[in-house]
Amino acid sequence: MSEIIKEEILAQIELEEKEARLKDPEWQELSPENFPECYQNTSFLKKIIAQAAEGPREVLISDIDWTFYHKDIPEETDRLYQTLEKVGIPVCYCTGRDLERVTGQPDLPQPDLAITAVGTEIWVRQQDDSFQKDPLYRERLLQDWQRDKIYQLAQDCVQQNPNVLVFQDRDKPENQGKPEMPTPEEFKISLYFYGGQEEARKMEEKMKELFGGEIGIVFSTNWREENCFYVDILPKLEAKTGKAMPIHYLKSLAGFRSIVAGDGGNDADMLFGSGSQAIVVGNFLPEMPGIISSLSEKEADWRPNLTGFKVGESRNDVYLAAKEDIGPRAILKALIRGDFNPHFARKITEISS
Ligand SMILES: [Mg+2]
Repeated sequence: MSEIIKEEILAQIELEEKEARLKDPEWQELSPENFPECYQNTSFLKKIIAQAAEGPREVLISDIDWTFYHKDIPEETDRLYQTLEKVGIPVCYCTGRDLERVTGQPDLPQPDLAITAVGTEIWVRQQDDSFQKDPLYRERLLQDWQRDKIYQLAQDCVQQNPNVLVFQDRDKPENQGKPEMPTPEEFKISLYFYGGQEEARKMEEKMKELFGGEIGIVFSTNWREENCFYVDILPKLEAKTGKAMPIHYLKSLAGFRSIVAGDGGNDADMLFGSGSQAIVVGNFLPEMPGIISSLSEKEADWRPNLTGFKVGESRNDVYLAAKEDIGPRAILKALIRGDFNPHFARKITEISS
């Protein structure tokens, strides 16, 4: 890195840190006892505490498929993971997968937290590398979630829209209780929608109306099948849904700066509605431009590689990667840029010099 760039970065950091100290909760005192028992003595909390000594605290929260992990460049997932390890930033996955499909993939590095089932379960990695579910988060989500009632509504919805709305295997009524089938998830009811972008948008509106404001409806492209979307029916936690919920919850336990990364519709809540710095990978899914323009309206245009991009009310910094910067490559590129996250960029400079 050239001296001039280094100096520019340092000047920016100084300015940012001054401002941050005044208002950011991630600089304020940390109370590890706010965290449930399953977090104590874990790598996640240890990294948070170690950062707190220097402040600000930062956490990377990333989608897995085609984002943190891209099957064409698995070595870049490793490189990204090693970098985060070196600078001591906790790695959290936030995925539609269940825990088995996170821990069961040998070439996927194990995260400090695995947030699974589209933000509805938080699993904390223990010292022996097993994962424990956060029971306090579960309790919070249970408050406004009546699964049987919502499942009934989903069944009505499927009946009214035959052929285009279909339950995913684990939620099919005829599969319930079958031992060979994965068990339904407590806070997630999942369907497929068959149709194009425009039809999906209309169906999403229709379902939001039917299920009402207390329930989250999340559409995301199914990259395995053309003209097919994943549809997740989810709880809400203080008006947040999907992948924004766990971030909101974790920040209520301790202030930290979240850097999030994703590629598709089910990442939208965390990218643009969780008060995070957002990285959109270059291989984003087809719904992403529509999501961004619906959020940005008059206020902003969207340009590649622009930081400080403001979206809607969330006032996020968004890094939109160039097309060739796919998955983990986009994340690392964003993180080492002095103007996206100067604090992280400085840490990288320190460890590589
Ligand atoms: Mg994805």
